[in-house]
Amino acid sequence: MEIYDYVVIGGGPAGLSAAIYLARSPLKGIVLEGSTPGGKLVDINRIDNYPGVPNTSGTDLALALLGEATSLGAEIVYKRATAVDKEGDLFKVSVEDGSYLTKNVIIATGLSSLSKGLEGEKEFMGRGISHCATCDAAFYVNKETVVLGNGEKPLSEALHLALQCSKVTLLFEESDLKGSEDSIKALKENPKVEIITSIKPLRFVADEKRTQIEGLEYEIDGKITLIKADGYFVYSKENGPLALLSSLNVEYKGNFLIGDPETGETSLKGLYVAGDAKQSLLKQVVTAASDGAKAGSAIIRRAAAGK
Ligand SMILES: Cc1cc2nc3c(=O)[nH]c(=O)nc-3n(C[C@H](O)[C@H](O)[C@H](O)COP(=O)(O)OP(=O)(O)OC[C@H]3O[C@@H](n4cnc5c(N)ncnc54)[C@H](O)[C@@H]3O)c2cc1C
Repeated sequence: MEIYDYVVIGGGPAGLSAAIYLARSPLKGIVLEGSTPGGKLVDINRIDNYPGVPNTSGTDLALALLGEATSLGAEIVYKRATAVDKEGDLFKVSVEDGSYLTKNVIIATGLSSLSKGLEGEKEFMGRGISHCATCDAAFYVNKETVVLGNGEKPLSEALHLALQCSKVTLLFEESDLKGSEDSIKALKENPKVEIITSIKPLRFVADEKRTQIEGLEYEIDGKITLIKADGYFVYSKENGPLALLSSLNVEYKGNFLIGDPETGETSLKGLYVAGDAKQSLLKQVVTAASDGAKAGSAIIRRAAAGK
C-alpha cells in the first residue's frame, strides 16, 4: 500500500489552505472531503471579516479556494473519513471503502452541529437569526438582541454584542452561567445585559406570511413567554472531531483538539488540527486559513529536516 506524507481530512477553508501550502512542496498527499468543498462557506450568503475580500459570497470564496488548491496540484478525494487509527509510526485513515496510510494527518473537519433544532431556526437563519456575533453584530448597532445559550462561547458572544447593542438578553436552560470567571463577572456587571436562567426554549414565532420573526417563545416556571428582539443569536453544543479519533490518546478541551499555537500539532506526533475543530475562542475563515497554513508548512518543515 502506498504511504502518503499527509492526509488532510476536510476541504473547508482550513483544509484547503493547508492543501495550498502542501501542494507547492514535493510531498505526496490528499485532501478527503466528505461533502461539499468549501465547508461552511457554501451555506453563507455574505462573508465578512476576511481581509482583502469584502462582501464576498461564501460560494465564491469556496470556489476560489478550491480552484487555487487544485490549480497548484492538490488532490481532492471525495470520501468521508470514518476513523483515524495508529499503525506503528503511521496513521491509518479509514473511508467507507478502504483506507490510506500516512505519516501525517491534518484534522480540518470543522464543527458538525451548530443548530439547536428549534422550529423556525433554520428558516430564519441569516434573516434575524445568527450563530456568530463576530460576523453579524454590525447589523445590530443600538438594537436589541437575544443570546440563547450558555458556556464560554455564547458568553463571550454576548459581551461582544453588548459593545454595540442597546440591550442583550442572555437566556439559557441551566440555573448558572457557565464560562470563565472574567466573562461571568463582566456580564453580571454590564448594565446592558439581562440574564434569564432555567428556561426551556420552544420555537421562533413568525408573522402570518412568515416573512419575519416575531419572537422567541420559551417556557419558564411552567409559563409560556415570548421575548422580542431585533436579532437572535443561537448557540448549541458544538461537536468537534471526537468520534473520528476515538482510538487515539490525544488531548482535548471539551470537544475540541488542542493544537500547538505555532503548528497545530496535537499531543500526538504527526496529528495536526486546523480551523474550527481546534480549541480556540475565535472561529472564523481567517483563523481557519491561518491554522491550515501553519499545519501545512509545519509538515513540510519536518519532512525537510528528515524528522
Ligand atoms: C452561519 C455562519 C456564518 C458565518 N459567517 C462568517 C463570516 O462572515 N466570516 C467569517 O470569517 N467566518 C464566518 N463563519 C465561520 C466560518 O464559516 C468557519 O470558521 C470556517 O468555515 C471554518 O473552516 P473549517 O475549514 O475549519 O471548517 P468547515 O468550514 O466546517 O469545513 C469542514 C469541512 O470538513 C468536511 N468534513 C467534516 N468531517 C469530515 C470527514 N469525516 N471526512 C471528510 N470530510 C469531512 C466538511 O464536509 C467540510 O467541508 C460563519 C459560520 C456560520 C455557521
